[in-house]
Amino acid sequence: MTPDHHSQNDILFARAQHSTPGGVNSPVRAFRSVGGTPRFITRAEGPYFWDADGKRYIDYIGSWGPAIVGHAHPQVVKAVQDAAARGLSFGAPTEGEIEIAEELCRLVPSLEQVRLVSSGTEATMSALRLARGATGRDKIVKFEGCYHGHADSLLVKAGSGLLTFGNPTSAGVPEDFVKHTLVLDYNNVPQLEDAFASMGDSIACVIVEAVAGNMNLIRATPEFLQRMRELCTEYGAVLIFDEVMSGFRVGLGGAQELYGIVPDLTALGKVIGGGLPVAAFGGRADLMEKMAPVGPVYQAGTLSGNPVAVAAGMTTLKLVQEPGFYDRLAAQTNKLADGLTAAAQEAGIPFCADAVGGMFGMYFSSHVPASYGQMMAGDKARFNSFFHGMLEEGVYFAPAMFEAGFVSAAHDDAVIAETVEAARRVFARLV
Ligand code: PMP
Repeated sequence: MTPDHHSQNDILFARAQHSTPGGVNSPVRAFRSVGGTPRFITRAEGPYFWDADGKRYIDYIGSWGPAIVGHAHPQVVKAVQDAAARGLSFGAPTEGEIEIAEELCRLVPSLEQVRLVSSGTEATMSALRLARGATGRDKIVKFEGCYHGHADSLLVKAGSGLLTFGNPTSAGVPEDFVKHTLVLDYNNVPQLEDAFASMGDSIACVIVEAVAGNMNLIRATPEFLQRMRELCTEYGAVLIFDEVMSGFRVGLGGAQELYGIVPDLTALGKVIGGGLPVAAFGGRADLMEKMAPVGPVYQAGTLSGNPVAVAAGMTTLKLVQEPGFYDRLAAQTNKLADGLTAAAQEAGIPFCADAVGGMFGMYFSSHVPASYGQMMAGDKARFNSFFHGMLEEGVYFAPAMFEAGFVSAAHDDAVIAETVEAARRVFARLV
């Protein structure tokens, strides 16, 4: 931009801040972690989106997961248009809701019944309530660095000592609301065993991202999840897999299929709405039957199972079942991870990357992290320079070191190659 030509993004950002806190409707969009001006998006297609200046970016956030078949896929757009023409919302049941529920139960190993909601936050919040309602217990276990939406009892960080209860991470969350939430280290089996040994009889549930995507990308070890399953079964606690991000992203059956572990309840979102607000929670029928109207655990939603959103989700779920979809997606994501790693190596920059299905992590450190603490030790300043360098090159990665990245079926070889070439130039400048 020349000094007399202001970026439309700057103008919009300044304007947005008058009417909306921080100018954004979800905090990470504000670029607080990386600095600079967020890009205001005007349209998207396939692997690309365009900002208010008309600049094109290769998009590696895909709306933070949903855009797995690429943006504005013609079949998804058509399904949405057709559904919209029949009416936007009825507040009464539709056959489309049965179809998507049946499809989810068919595709995700542990689902016997599901309830549709409109956001991942609602899905996890409702699953927690169900776990507490079904067990009659209050305590919940979560892991540091896993994000499960912004329900009060989940906005918690670890307490001062191991096995002490957590502290709120947000103003406005009373201590009393989080005093039942125990925050443990991810992938720490002995600590989990200690927690169950000392208070297993009062733990309602354990909630976990089996492939974590909210502390960059971190894989759970198989032993961690296996032991978690055993302990939950032994003590009668409900095991909740939060697959809002990993569901239909790491593979067709989610992380639970990948690890061969059957949780009691699962939260889903993102991909199952194909870019419109659909999320779900579900699992064992004997638990789900505790939900209103058949059971005592209350939960509801004006727009739950919205027909337009369900049409987008259902069409997306059909598209990801095309033969070879996840093999191709994983291959492209691996090509990106390998290409970025090679480009960093050429420049002599400590860097590594990991990929699971269509999700990837980039780490400015010499080892792939296994916990929140290890991930936080990465070189944030270097990530931020890399992020802005890539943005200038027309490649949009998540605007924070703590986020995973997403590849879509529209990221073909040419798109990946263009990304890696850009990274080569940016890494060279970072030295
Ligand atoms: N769980 C996980 C694992 C997530 O990644 C997210 C959102 N990034 C949520 C829950 C919350 O979903 P939503 O933003 O739709 O409320």
